[in-house]
Amino acid sequence: MANERVTREIPIPGSVERSLLDEETIRRRVEELAAQISADYADRESLLLVGVLKGAFIFLADLARRLTIPHHVDFIALSSYNRGMVSTGAVRLIMDTRAPVTGRHILIVEDIVDTGHTLKYLMDTFHARQPASLRTCVLLSKPEQREIEVPIDYLGFEIPNVWVVGYGLDFADRYRTLPYIAVLKREAYE
Ligand code: 5GP
Repeated sequence: MANERVTREIPIPGSVERSLLDEETIRRRVEELAAQISADYADRESLLLVGVLKGAFIFLADLARRLTIPHHVDFIALSSYNRGMVSTGAVRLIMDTRAPVTGRHILIVEDIVDTGHTLKYLMDTFHARQPASLRTCVLLSKPEQREIEVPIDYLGFEIPNVWVVGYGLDFADRYRTLPYIAVLKREAYE
């Protein structure tokens, strides 16, 4: 019943080519990641999840609710200078975390790693603040696109070099609330 309602309310938009990862596949993988993270941090006092806005907000919400360990949630917002949909590699901090980072166990939660510049910027920024530990949890990775090697400690899925939307990810701030991850048609942005 609930699924029927979602399908009626959110028809596949015309610019979306096909579903790459359906709701059930995402749900199962997020559950596995949460179980792994809960096991790995079981003996730590507390974990601070830092979600990267806006793209990671749905992933972080689902992940955090499945953790069985004490944790806190904070956010950071970045803006990257893009030429069209191609990243120039320059990243700027537009909203910082409110919680102190020094001496805490930090897990950066990011929607997607493409060239790697954004995650590299985040790693450098947080390392400089001397956390007790620093790891990354990334829903999607496009390995073909990588320009800088960045450590991904917890990865949801590897995907090919296509532009994806849904489950938090956007195109021009649209499609974020699609419940699945879909490929955007090339003609929508070319
Ligand atoms: P990177 O710095 O690794 O090249 O890019 C990371 C950022 O680019 C992500 O946080 C995301 O904002 C954006 N990005 C890269 N590929 C995609 C994609 O396929 N779909 C969406 N919606 N954003 C993407």
